[in-house]
Amino acid sequence: MDITTKGVSIKLSGKEIVHEASIRVRGGQMVGLFGPNGSGKSTLLKSIYRVLKPQAGEILFDDIPLEQIPRQETAKKLAVVTQFTTLNFEFKVSEIVLMGRSPHKKLLDKDTPEDFRIVRECLEKVNMLGLSDRKFSTLSGGEKQRVLLARALAQETSVLVLDEPTNHLDIKYQLQTMEIIRNLNKGVLLALHDLNMAFRYCDYVFIMKDGRVEAHGKPEDIIDEALIRNVYEVESRIYENPVTHLPSIAFLP
Ligand code: ADP
Ligand code: MG
Repeated sequence: MDITTKGVSIKLSGKEIVHEASIRVRGGQMVGLFGPNGSGKSTLLKSIYRVLKPQAGEILFDDIPLEQIPRQETAKKLAVVTQFTTLNFEFKVSEIVLMGRSPHKKLLDKDTPEDFRIVRECLEKVNMLGLSDRKFSTLSGGEKQRVLLARALAQETSVLVLDEPTNHLDIKYQLQTMEIIRNLNKGVLLALHDLNMAFRYCDYVFIMKDGRVEAHGKPEDIIDEALIRNVYEVESRIYENPVTHLPSIAFLP
């Protein structure tokens, strides 16, 4: 499934936070959304996962305008991992992941062996199977993040939207999370902080500044010192990393 926003503008408290943003995620692509703090990434993502309604522009899932798709259908097509999920109910880890199955069920449907199999599989993918019975509220930030990723995977959607999914994670789980996400074979749209991640993981990137899409393209085609200066207001040098052989950004004081 493709996701497209066309000229999306979003106002909050009378202020335009996103201005005519047009982005596209093609089926199977890993697409990064970059930009400084406050540039509108989370706000644009919220309009795609239907928490905010744009004042102008349109959002399409394939060729269908989002508002023509019933909410439960949206949840079968698109799963979300947000930045600050405050799920502090006394649910067990496995119960949280099982919630990911609910878009596939009617109200009183029972959980099936298939549901439990999917839950186990998804917990295994994020390396959390061993903590299935723990209370979610007792987990560390990074562990919570991985459980929420497992819940999104259990939704079995064709697209995944993630808002800074590696924020609370230490290096090992940052890399593990990015590897899991990249190997999903589904469309992924993720807001990310670290531009170096673009070279390593993204097929395509959109760079936001002050609510606008300032640049877009393949990371190696568009991320250069001038773009970084313009968008982030810092000097940098891009060099070939001698170990990974990928482009790498050194930020200068
Ligand atoms: P990013 O995710 O790129 O850091 P956000 O989309 O979270 O940026 O925020 C963009 C801007 O919108 C910020 O300046 C933020 O303060 C502002 N903003 C976010 N939510 C609201 C709101 N409910 N009312 C007014 N301004 C908001
Ligand atoms: Mg954000």
